[in-house]
Amino acid sequence: MDMQSASNITRITPSAAIETSRHGWRAKCLQRLVRMELPVPRSYAIPAEAVQAIAAGHPVPMASMQDLFSSRDGLVGVRPSAFRPEWGGPGTVLNVGINDVTHSRLAAHIGPENADAIYLDFVQSYAIHIARLDPDMFSQSGENALHDALRCYRDEMDEDFPQDPYRQLAEVLRSMSRAWDGPTARLLRQAKGAPADAPLGLVVQDMALALGPGLSGSGTIQFVDSVTGMPRVTGRFRGQHHGETVGKDAKTLYLTRDERGPSLEEVAPGIFADLVRFGIAARERLREEMQIEFVVTEGRISIIDATRVQRSSRASVRIAVAMALDGIIPEAEAVMRVEPRALADLLHHQVDARAPRDVVARGINASPGAATGRIVFTAAAAQASAARDEACILVRRETVPEDIRGMHASVAVLTERGGTTSHAAVIARGLGLPCIVGASGLSIDSRHRTLRAGDRVFREGEEITIDGTSGEVLAGAAKLLEPALDESFNQLLAWADAAGGIGVRANADTSEDALTARKFNAQGIGLCRTEHMFFDMERLPAMREMIFADKPEDRRLALQRILPMQRRDFTALFEIMAGLPVTIRLFDPPLHEFLPHDREGLRELAESLDLPLSDVTRRVEALSEFNPMLGMRGVRLGITVPEIYDMQARAIFEATVEASHNGDPVVPEIMIPLVSAMREVELVKNRVDAVAAAVRNERHADFTYRLGVMVETPRAALRAGDIAAHSAFLSFGTNDLTQMTYGLSRDDAGRFMSTYVGQGVYAEDPFHILDQDGVGELLLTGAQRARKQHPDITISVCGEHGGNPESIAFCHDAGFNYVSCSPFRVPVARLAAAQSAI
Ligand code: PEP
Ligand code: MG
Repeated sequence: MDMQSASNITRITPSAAIETSRHGWRAKCLQRLVRMELPVPRSYAIPAEAVQAIAAGHPVPMASMQDLFSSRDGLVGVRPSAFRPEWGGPGTVLNVGINDVTHSRLAAHIGPENADAIYLDFVQSYAIHIARLDPDMFSQSGENALHDALRCYRDEMDEDFPQDPYRQLAEVLRSMSRAWDGPTARLLRQAKGAPADAPLGLVVQDMALALGPGLSGSGTIQFVDSVTGMPRVTGRFRGQHHGETVGKDAKTLYLTRDERGPSLEEVAPGIFADLVRFGIAARERLREEMQIEFVVTEGRISIIDATRVQRSSRASVRIAVAMALDGIIPEAEAVMRVEPRALADLLHHQVDARAPRDVVARGINASPGAATGRIVFTAAAAQASAARDEACILVRRETVPEDIRGMHASVAVLTERGGTTSHAAVIARGLGLPCIVGASGLSIDSRHRTLRAGDRVFREGEEITIDGTSGEVLAGAAKLLEPALDESFNQLLAWADAAGGIGVRANADTSEDALTARKFNAQGIGLCRTEHMFFDMERLPAMREMIFADKPEDRRLALQRILPMQRRDFTALFEIMAGLPVTIRLFDPPLHEFLPHDREGLRELAESLDLPLSDVTRRVEALSEFNPMLGMRGVRLGITVPEIYDMQARAIFEATVEASHNGDPVVPEIMIPLVSAMREVELVKNRVDAVAAAVRNERHADFTYRLGVMVETPRAALRAGDIAAHSAFLSFGTNDLTQMTYGLSRDDAGRFMSTYVGQGVYAEDPFHILDQDGVGELLLTGAQRARKQHPDITISVCGEHGGNPESIAFCHDAGFNYVSCSPFRVPVARLAAAQSAI
């Protein structure tokens, strides 16, 4: 480090060359306040290179800080100034410069007790943080505390407490410079996204005294509410309170008129009016809502610091929109200022961060929002609870498709097992239910209907709160905030849409989902998982009958019963989507998911099918597979038992004809799941074409449709060129594609995912954030091969990654046409899409 740059300490004046990258955010912010002619005490910025030199043992170039300690009270404070505020920095050290002489001078002016308090605070903090003496020896208080602390220092250090203000300052600067390189500070800032070698600047500032005669004290003020983002003056003024030093007659005042006690607004209206004026000016000039830190010295005001107001998700939206509407920032900047994920918090209830929380367990935050309800352990109990109008939370080891009805009846879901794409997580996100999965610290005893979390036991019927945003399970009813789908939210998304990023559709299985998708302005349905429609009480028996049928004819008869119901499902979807594209995926899961597994269920099934129990049991066993996710499901089932797809295609086309009568012509999109070979597509296409021709004939109607393929196996991605020849669109099912690329079960990965991410094996959970290096390469390869064969082909992603901002940016950069995600993630995706495009 050359000494030239080390001596580059700069007085913060309007024209000084202060740069955030060298001097840090605080120095730059102070310069802006100085430029606004606010009463900022004299301040100096020490640049990062000088801080490094000081840490390395070079002398502090004091000469460049002229007249330091020459203010009336002769005290200075030192604050960290990192490149970004959230990277923190060593703690502020105040009252540097106090010694026996200044102490006497202060005692004459502000009284001996106050002068003692300031001196004592500095000696204690210097001894502990700079001389690194044992904190226990410096916990003096009471009458002789200052004397005892000075003696203690002398005994331990074999010298008097340093009286030279420049030496004190040099030691403080050295200690703060070195603290920045300590392992804890480094880890903390890296966790906030700072690079390992992030620079630190320091600011040395004359101290304004907040103790003494007349109105003296210190405070903070901000002009918006941190939780709601609405205009509101908040903060406090602490009279006779100087930094951490509490003076004689210390007293806190409200800022604005308040019936509970006196306020600054009443006691010192001039000062209050100045603060309001400064606040308005800071918002306009700094283009940000600021919290201002101020000191009043005998009725005179100083502005010593300003920081960006802390804000909740809803406040961040409200603030960005209000600043754009006031013409302070452009609309596109408002769009860029809100973290897309923050929008998910606005759609649901949230636990009020200000209220106490009794956390009993933690898991993966699988679906955001919060809800309070009584514990139930079965889907049936959930339905009974809903029938009594009692909010309940379904607690399961893991959920299975049969639990869907229970999930519908619950206000939140909690599972002991599972990861971000396990059944419970996917369904809960689709329903907009708060959900925690993989809460492995829980132990569920469904027989005795108890839930154990550590040494606490909860029984069925007891109330808990699920915070799906943080992944925390809370005992009892926590205080909740209402959703905030207000004008600011709509305005921000309208600006986002105007930016024209990648398209956003919704994954919607039911009319309710479709209505949510419309409410959030999705551009269509990108995935309708039709199997969810079969768990209905009316359909399940027909499904089971179909599974047990020996001959195709019998299968067809059973499916005939389902056909009108499916037609109704699709007609409703088409009508709600009013001409927007609707992509319907043909049946995907293995059939055994529709069969009971316990003895009681098997017995009931035997009774309803009028078959001996042994036949039913044998059949169920025959259908069970070692690895059902890689077994007879998706298109493999479609080809082996073609009657199911025939029925679905017919239902889709009949619904197309019906819905087209009622409104805009419908062009359905039919999607084939789990394809791995071109021939599979040809076989299905031939049958679907035949069904289309039959329906056209029978109904004397004309319609078109688009047939596409879900790319969910690595082979389909590699062979996307051939597959594209028969497809109008390809949609990457990145849940299964991730599972198959990694050879990692999406339902079991939760057990070790946190260990893997913790040890850096995976940078992130690949089921949550698209693995751009591996799975991403398959996406790019597949898209490129498909486009080469078929340049106009529509390409999209409909796995859970479609709602993840980083993954959306990847799809945007790859030139995909749209992403499709759970309806409640559509706003997040729209904002992320806009940010990729801006
Ligand atoms: C996928 O695999 O990415 C997908 C969307 O389908 P599912 O989650 O229903 O398997
Ligand atoms: Mg899939």
